[in-house]
Amino acid sequence: MQISNRVESLAVSQTLAMSQKSAELKAQGVDVINLSVGEPDFNTPSHIKAAAVKAIEDNYSFYSPVPGYMSLRKAIADKLSRENGLHYDPSQIVVGNGAKHALANVIMATINAGDEVIIPTPAWVSYLELVKLAEGKPVLVATGLDQDFKITPAQLEAAITPATRAIIMCSPSNPTGSVYSRDELQALVDVFERHPQVLVIADEIYEHILYTGGDFVSLASFEAIADRTVVINGVSKAYAMTGWRIGYCAAPVQLAKAISKLQGQMTSGASSIAQKAAEAAYTGPQECVEDMRRAFERRRDLVVRLAREIPGLGVNEPQGAFYLFPEVSAYLGTTAPDGRTITTDSDLAMYLLEVGHVATVAGAAFCAPGYIRLSYATSDENLVEAMRRIKSALQELRKC
Ligand code: PMP
Ligand code: GLU
Repeated sequence: MQISNRVESLAVSQTLAMSQKSAELKAQGVDVINLSVGEPDFNTPSHIKAAAVKAIEDNYSFYSPVPGYMSLRKAIADKLSRENGLHYDPSQIVVGNGAKHALANVIMATINAGDEVIIPTPAWVSYLELVKLAEGKPVLVATGLDQDFKITPAQLEAAITPATRAIIMCSPSNPTGSVYSRDELQALVDVFERHPQVLVIADEIYEHILYTGGDFVSLASFEAIADRTVVINGVSKAYAMTGWRIGYCAAPVQLAKAISKLQGQMTSGASSIAQKAAEAAYTGPQECVEDMRRAFERRRDLVVRLAREIPGLGVNEPQGAFYLFPEVSAYLGTTAPDGRTITTDSDLAMYLLEVGHVATVAGAAFCAPGYIRLSYATSDENLVEAMRRIKSALQELRKC
């Protein structure tokens, strides 16, 4: 069987792979705590589920328009106006099968072979692979714990070349939880202003899971770059709807049309039922979003406190999303009691899974070796036990 070069050279999604591995161990009877995959552990709020049931009963069983139902696109445009102060016409919004699909659409619709795409790292697993799929050239810009994982204007300026076609920004960030302030974004926008060829792809899927105490600032709200910024967002995280698969992009009209053409050939409109549920999410009561946010903030405090009690871990205080990204290099170059050597963060993540029975994701999956990612979207009880297991597994390691 021939497998195309483009798929042969694609990496497996490590977040999904670690979650799968943890599920397999669980199925074998091993008591694993899964801190690998990033998804809310809450059920979808009842009024959203009820809207889906109604959609089924009302026979929303036919193909939807390729870019999504007009009523949903209007609800998204209203949300962007109400919450973000952004003014989009529904014709600028294309609904797809999750934010991941929306992002894939944007990349496929804008990147030609050899185009450079800047990806500040640590970066979510799919950015690099999607750019490679489009035959673009990923330009990774490394940021570390010392700069709270945020790209500086000087780093950005240095990374841009005449071949730069786009940048993928993610705030609040997966995997670090870092959030750019308005001033920090403004300083980056000042750089973008000097380089009008750069499309700004703003992944804002975690906008509601924010602990700064202030309002979320969308990159599209900066006038100077508004006409070349694409917002990626969706219902997965804010409304606990990861399995429903609804996300969208809000883009300049010409790009929205191009994406719609692409989607019309590849997937058609997203699930009719899930679209009606997403519409209820955007138009219905919003208290559920705040309730979940508060729970995540409490867990953030808990997990940061417990992680800081583990000697040798470098721990930032995430300001959004539901991930902790501790620096683990103090535990590399060690040997475990079972004789295995822990050379890389991937070795460490595997040791924590197989011996500590806690599933995490290696920093390497996010182009950031020397770290691991923990998702704290799980119960306090699980978090306390997971951190106890991690601490005791790490205490067993001896420098080679
Ligand atoms: N962007 C980021 C940064 C993510 O963490 C995720 C993970 N789910 C997505 C996009 C994709 O979300 P969706 O479930 O809507 O495809
Ligand atoms: N975005 C989540 C994560 O990073 C879900 C998995 C995925 O889509 O990669 O864990």
